[in-house]
Amino acid sequence: MKKLQAIRGMNDLLPSDSPVWQYLESTVADVLQRYGYSEIRFPILEATELFKRSIGEVTDIVEKEMYTFDDRNGDSVTMRPEGTASCVRACEQHGLLYNQTQRLWYTGPMFRYERPQKGRLRQFHQIGVETFGMAGPDIDAEMLLITARLWRELGIADAVTLQLNTLGSNEERARYRDALVAYLSERKDQLDEDSQRRLDSNPLRILDSKDANTQALLDGAPTLQDYLGEESNAHFDGLKAILDAAGIAYEVNPRLVRGLDYYCNTVFEWVTDKLGAQGTVCAGGRYDGLVGQLGGKPTPAVGFAMGIERLVLMLQELQVVPEALGQNVDAYLVSVGDVKAAAFKLAETVRNELPYLRVQSHCGGGNFKKQMKKANDSGADIALIVGEDEAKNGQVTLKFLREDKPQQTLTIEQALIALQD
Ligand code: ATP
Ligand code: MG
Repeated sequence: MKKLQAIRGMNDLLPSDSPVWQYLESTVADVLQRYGYSEIRFPILEATELFKRSIGEVTDIVEKEMYTFDDRNGDSVTMRPEGTASCVRACEQHGLLYNQTQRLWYTGPMFRYERPQKGRLRQFHQIGVETFGMAGPDIDAEMLLITARLWRELGIADAVTLQLNTLGSNEERARYRDALVAYLSERKDQLDEDSQRRLDSNPLRILDSKDANTQALLDGAPTLQDYLGEESNAHFDGLKAILDAAGIAYEVNPRLVRGLDYYCNTVFEWVTDKLGAQGTVCAGGRYDGLVGQLGGKPTPAVGFAMGIERLVLMLQELQVVPEALGQNVDAYLVSVGDVKAAAFKLAETVRNELPYLRVQSHCGGGNFKKQMKKANDSGADIALIVGEDEAKNGQVTLKFLREDKPQQTLTIEQALIALQD
C-alpha cells in the first residue's frame, strides 16, 4: 500500500519544534495584552464571496492561490487565505463596530496554493492584529510600536528593518493610477510579461515588480507622492513624527504597494535579509474602505499580520531561542513491583501540592534499570522511586540525576519539602 503523506506545502509541527512556536505565540500574546488587545477567533472556512469582495478579484491570492471548493450543498467556500476579511465579517456580524473602537488579534492557519519553498507554505500560520474606528496616524504608529517591541523582546530587532509608504486616499490613488497607466502604456513593450498583464488589471503592483528593466523604466514614471493631497501628507507626517520620537527607524519606500486591493494611506513591511527570498516577516497597513466595501458603515481600520514560520526560522537562524524551552519534565516517577496504585497516588499528591513541578510517571512496565534510563532521558533532575518497601511504609526515594548527592528515602511530607527547592 502507498504510504500516506501530508499534502505538499502543509507541514506537521513536531514535538521538537513546538516549544519554539509556543514561546513565540505566548510572547506575542503577552505583548498584545499589554497594549490592551483582545483575541478574536473565526472559522477557517468562509463563503468564497467574502474573499473575492475584500481582497480583490485581480490579486495573486484570488486569481490563483485560494483553496476554493463547493461544499455538499453546492455553495462555494474557501479556506481563509488571510484573516482581515474574516475579522471584518465577524465584527460586522456581531455588531462590534457600532459606535466603538476595537483592538483585536487572532492567530491560526491560512491557506494559499503557492509554490512551497523555505518560508513559503500552502498551510502557513499568521498572527494578525486589526483595529477599527480610529482614523488618525496615532493608531498606525501603535501598530509599529507593538511590532518593534516584539522584535526587541524576541531578540531579533537588529535583523529586521521597517519599510514604510503611503498610498494616499482612494481618489488620489485612482488619479495616480491613470497617470501611471498612461506613462507605462506608451512603453508597454519594455515591460516584463507579468507587468504587461497587470497594466490592465492591477497597475500599482507593477511598482513592486522584481524585473530590473521594469524597475529602470519606473525611474522616469510619475510618482504617487506627487498626487497626494494635504490630508494624506499630514497623516503620513503625523505617523513619522511619532516614530521619530519613539526612536523607531524606518525607510520610506515609495514603491511599496502591498498586494491587496484594500489598502490606503499607511502601508508597511518589516523585512529581513536572513531568510533569502522570503524576507517579509510582517506586513500591514490602513484599510479604511474595507468595512464599507463589505456592506458595513464606513469605518477606519488598520492592521498587520506576521508569518509564524518565517519568525520561527529567524529565531533559529539567529540562535535567540531561550535554552530551557525544550525540557519538559522536572521529576520522573519510577515504580518497581506491584506498587502502581501507591506510586500514582504519590505522583498525584506531588502535582496537587507543587503544581509548578512537571512530573512524568513511567508507564508500560520494565525493570528498574530500564525505568532509570527513561528517567535520565526525560531530562528530569530527580527520579521519584517507589518500590515494595516504600509503598508499604508510605515513603518515596529521591534519586538526584544531575547532582552528585546521595539518594534519600523520605516520608511523603518530607519529600514534598525536599522537592520544593
Ligand atoms: P509574500 O510577498 O511573501 O508572498 P504576502 O504579501 O503575500 O507575502 P501577506 O498577505 O501580507 O503576505 O501576509 C503577511 C505575512 O504572512 C507575510 O509577510 C509572511 O510573513 C506571511 N506569509 C504570507 N504568505 C505566506 C506563505 N505562503 N507561507 C508562509 N508565510 C507566508
Ligand atoms: Mg504572497
